[in-house]
Amino acid sequence: MRYMSTRGQVRGIPFKDAVMMGLADDGGLLLPESIPALSPGDIEALEKLAYPELAFQIISLFASDIPSADLKGLIERSYSTFTHPEVTPVSHQDGVYILELFHGPTLAFKDVALQFLGNLFEYLLNERGEKMNIVGATSGDTGSAAIYGVRGKENINIFILHPHQRVSPVQEMQMTTVLDPNVHNLAIQGSFDDGQRIVKEIFGDLEFKSRLSLGAVNSINWARVLAQIVYYFYAWGRVRRQTGCNSLYFSVPTGNFGDIFAGYIAKRMGLPIRRLVLATNENNILSRFVRNGDYSTGNVVETLSPSMDIQVASNFERYLFYLYGGNSERVAAAMESFSRDGRLSFSKEEMAEVGNDFLSQTVDRDQTIDTIRSFHALTGYILDPHTAVGIKAGRDLSGGEAPVVCLATAHPAKFGEAVRSAIGREPEIPPSLAGIEALERRCEIIDADTEAVKKYVERKTVIGH
Ligand SMILES: *Cc1c(COP(=O)(O)O)cnc(C)c1O
Repeated sequence: MRYMSTRGQVRGIPFKDAVMMGLADDGGLLLPESIPALSPGDIEALEKLAYPELAFQIISLFASDIPSADLKGLIERSYSTFTHPEVTPVSHQDGVYILELFHGPTLAFKDVALQFLGNLFEYLLNERGEKMNIVGATSGDTGSAAIYGVRGKENINIFILHPHQRVSPVQEMQMTTVLDPNVHNLAIQGSFDDGQRIVKEIFGDLEFKSRLSLGAVNSINWARVLAQIVYYFYAWGRVRRQTGCNSLYFSVPTGNFGDIFAGYIAKRMGLPIRRLVLATNENNILSRFVRNGDYSTGNVVETLSPSMDIQVASNFERYLFYLYGGNSERVAAAMESFSRDGRLSFSKEEMAEVGNDFLSQTVDRDQTIDTIRSFHALTGYILDPHTAVGIKAGRDLSGGEAPVVCLATAHPAKFGEAVRSAIGREPEIPPSLAGIEALERRCEIIDADTEAVKKYVERKTVIGH
């Protein structure tokens, strides 16, 4: 399998190089040159597999340049850190199927991809005799999942910028209590947007980027999308065995369009997904797009589901490539006009195609709290606020025609305050968080200044040592 850029100037890239490249050199995002098509028989044969075997079957279709035994080992190691024997179990509650993606080390779905990506980076760097410095900004969940993905790995240093005192206490502790020498937490005196700007500026300095071998862990990396395709197949098999139903809705709490894009690829591979429900909070550019073709940026507002407080979804460009029938010139032109005007418009035919794949709904703060409260009252099951957004939209839009699988993207204990305002108490603390307050922490407070961050990275880097 070879990879190409959405903007057409990069082609014929093997999987291994696509992982190392992250963002394509022409500024686009990498996609497989073709999507493997599975027959109904192929898909049924996957139904009985345990998670790591299923992951191997799916991932190997896209990573043909990694020897099978090596890939199996990488996958085994990546999912042995999950605390549930099924890795991503499906729980049936009050008529909906909840795909629990939060049993990894940092209690959010990002572990599913970042445990794999950390091991994959280590493997590829060993093979090349190279080292890498990962630099990334986080509003909370990505940072800790990336840190847990690479902690203790000898050929990788990681630098994660978070906004000082503006992430939740649990998120901050999850990052700063990791004391491995290759992990560097930088609390910047500024906002998440400052952090993202600094990281962009650092990657824009191509001399610095190449001299320090910078690597990226955000969801522009194809390997992250790839690892997430697996659990759509997994959930489909589990629900089909229980219901005999051959067609499902999936409801996905969406921010950067990474998770739901993995579902879109699964659908294109042949998985019988009736519609993907794109659930957003008040930051609803994607929901406006699906409903009325209105893709125009607004200001980011703070919500109860902070990991979805995003206006410009980086993975949307990947979807545009398919919506435009693989016309990369049109993608490049659209991205340019979007960065100029802050909006895109679509034809009737294009919107009809969007409607064949997606439904969407915006779920506001009150509806989120109501959903957590009523779901708990009925079932005793506690939803985190991101998952609640998906449950509300999934129930409203599936109309009971076919089962709906709602992706549970975080453990409720990660967002205890929102849960408390819904049900009057905080959720039980899982073992991985028990006693975390007492642990030693390490974190550098630093100005929101690109040069200061670059100096810090350079001083701490492993390159040349
Ligand atoms: C990152 C995140 C999301 C959004 O996922 P995208 O791939 O960015 O759409 C939703 N819920 C939680 C808990 C997250 O951490």
